[in-house]
Amino acid sequence: MSAWGFGRHTAVRAEPAHTGPAVALTQVSKVYSGGVRALHDVTLTVWPGTLLAVMGPSGSGKSTLMHCAAGLDSPTSGSVRVDGHEIAGLDETRRTELRRDHVGFVFQAYNLIPSLSIQDNITLPLRLAGRTFDRDWMNALIERVGIAGCLGRRPAELSGGQQQRAALVRALVAKPAVVFADEPTGALDLHSAHQVLQLLRSLVDEFHQTVVMVTHDPAAAAWAHEALVMADGRVVDSLMAPTAARLADCLIALGGY
Ligand code: ADP
Ligand code: MG
Repeated sequence: MSAWGFGRHTAVRAEPAHTGPAVALTQVSKVYSGGVRALHDVTLTVWPGTLLAVMGPSGSGKSTLMHCAAGLDSPTSGSVRVDGHEIAGLDETRRTELRRDHVGFVFQAYNLIPSLSIQDNITLPLRLAGRTFDRDWMNALIERVGIAGCLGRRPAELSGGQQQRAALVRALVAKPAVVFADEPTGALDLHSAHQVLQLLRSLVDEFHQTVVMVTHDPAAAAWAHEALVMADGRVVDSLMAPTAARLADCLIALGGY
């Protein structure tokens, strides 16, 4: 589906740790204490080199799905494999280790540390984990997202779009098997949102990265290779090469928009 590092990026592609799915959920259910069944038997596979969007009305289970798939929470039943590792049923400590080694995150509010330079924000997760890092890979990411001129500045000195582009580099620098992005353009103006989404898709295609993006915005989800539509804790539709118009139709039919 996507090209493996062409042109000047050839030398710096991130090699996948294994050849199977980046993420695989099998019959995952989640019942919160209090009895709310937020996920019903969800089965899905995310292949390396894919940008997958997860859409659906408020309360349909998008956040719960992401939290279970990313190892932030445990499902009540079912299997969650990240980069081949089973994480359902692991205790909090082991899930934290697994996230640190295999998962990256991008948040709506960027979540950069205000007192640190952009350069230090990017390398902080690696330094905290005591990991060495691949400078060629980091520099290729920095160049590709266009923030080379911002590395010495603090987050507040950058635009929202620049901060989110720095957060993309931070999420990818450790070569995670998958990056989960929760409404990554929710705080951006239209132009910056477009730039960030175009970059996200480019990073997936050119660098063979894997991204799962939760969004309620059909225009954002239209950048994905595939969009899943959730309703009442189930995946009710899947659109390949989705367009904003088809996604909007699908969501309107569910009555949540
Ligand atoms: P979405 O992200 O699509 O808006 P969520 O995954 O946040 O949906 O929520 C799915 C359902 O689970 C909703 O009914 C919500 O109220 C419920 N829910 C979410 N988080 C919790 C929680 N921590 N405890 C109890 N119920 C929850
Ligand atoms: Mg949510």
